[in-house]
Amino acid sequence: MTQLSARLDSMAGLGRNLQEVDAGASPDDPPSFVTEPDPSTAPANVPALPIQLEHLLARRLPRIGPRTRMFRRAHFADVKDSDWHDWKWQLRHSFKTTEQLARVLELTAEERAALDRCGSLLPVAVTPYYMSLLDGFDADCGLRRTVVPVQNEFLRTPGEADDPLDEDGHSPVPGLVHRYPDRVLFLVLDRCATYCRYCTRSRVVGQDELRPGRERWDTALDYIRSHPEIRDVLLSGGDPLTLSDERLDYLLGELRRIPHVQFVRIGTKVPAVLPQRITPALVKVLRRHHPLWLSLHFLHPAECTPESAAACRRLADAGIPLGSQTVLLKGVNDDVAVMKALVHSLLMMRVRPYYLYQCDPISGSSHFRTTVEKGLEIIRGLRGFTTGYAVPTYVIDAPGGGGKIALQPDCLVGRDGGDVLLRNYEGNIHRYPDGQAALEAAR
Ligand code: SF4
Repeated sequence: MTQLSARLDSMAGLGRNLQEVDAGASPDDPPSFVTEPDPSTAPANVPALPIQLEHLLARRLPRIGPRTRMFRRAHFADVKDSDWHDWKWQLRHSFKTTEQLARVLELTAEERAALDRCGSLLPVAVTPYYMSLLDGFDADCGLRRTVVPVQNEFLRTPGEADDPLDEDGHSPVPGLVHRYPDRVLFLVLDRCATYCRYCTRSRVVGQDELRPGRERWDTALDYIRSHPEIRDVLLSGGDPLTLSDERLDYLLGELRRIPHVQFVRIGTKVPAVLPQRITPALVKVLRRHHPLWLSLHFLHPAECTPESAAACRRLADAGIPLGSQTVLLKGVNDDVAVMKALVHSLLMMRVRPYYLYQCDPISGSSHFRTTVEKGLEIIRGLRGFTTGYAVPTYVIDAPGGGGKIALQPDCLVGRDGGDVLLRNYEGNIHRYPDGQAALEAAR
């Protein structure tokens, strides 16, 4: 393995066994998706990308990534292809208990203690596919930390709250949040394919409080029908794409029948944790309800696998615009090189990096939260140094329900006569004649 691909692996905490994967691949296997750049030409400080552009352009995506292939051989060797690629099989075989997790992960005492304490809090569930992306031997693996609890999850520090965004305070009917004038957040269910330990809605997710019942949905739909100012509905939860095709079709159809609802969005982590769910049948349902946009939740370049790329391609081919929302997490993606590899991979998967979120101060999140300066440092490391489309907007969702506030590194450094003084991405100061002010200065 080259130094460069080793670096990307170590960033994900996934540094083991890739050589074994490739060594174990049969001659008929599709080419590995892990880039093996030529060390004589590649600059030493550029991390490898998990997705190879030529594969995407040639539409020759391997059906299964090398790490996942190896995991399957080790733990699900007898499982038929048709089962492995079936999203319902994946959900049925999710890892939920300490015993199940211990079969594939070398659990630390810390992780075991946290798993035993989880009880009634945010559940633990990891699909076999997503489990294949974690490092079984390294508890510091970034992706592993996002789905396997640790004791810090039970530590409440100043400023944290169970509902920091005061969604409950802006909820006129159960599961509907009406904070902004022209749009609502509709929490259609409280179940997810895989549970993220930093989830903003951990107070309700997996708690059986927001079931996808017809009665609750109809109450929310009635509220939307009776508020003509609502032109935009964001479906979230829980993960709406874990609903059946029929239920999604019903819900989207009802929303589409409301004349003032112009725009429907779905927030989902499914393409990252359960890409098998993006079936032709699901896509057929979704494309019936345009204009429909999807906000995908990707965290790390290690999630950009052949499987997730194929899922995104299917959605994009159906004309669904794809944006990504990434939460900035300490020890997971708080590094310019990791973030750059992620946004580049997303663009190649036809996903526009949309928001970079400062982690919300939910209870037990201190081990995930970075400083705000770290977020600005990442934006400084992207802006100007890569394609503008690759640079997400860095936002803080203001505690208490203040809404999203966008943060930019300071570019406006002052004025001189009629000019504004601007700092560019290289740190150089440039002048710009500022309209009327420049004219008055010239008089
Ligand atoms: S998928 Fe979304 S709603 Fe579900 S646990 Fe993760 S962040 Fe929370």
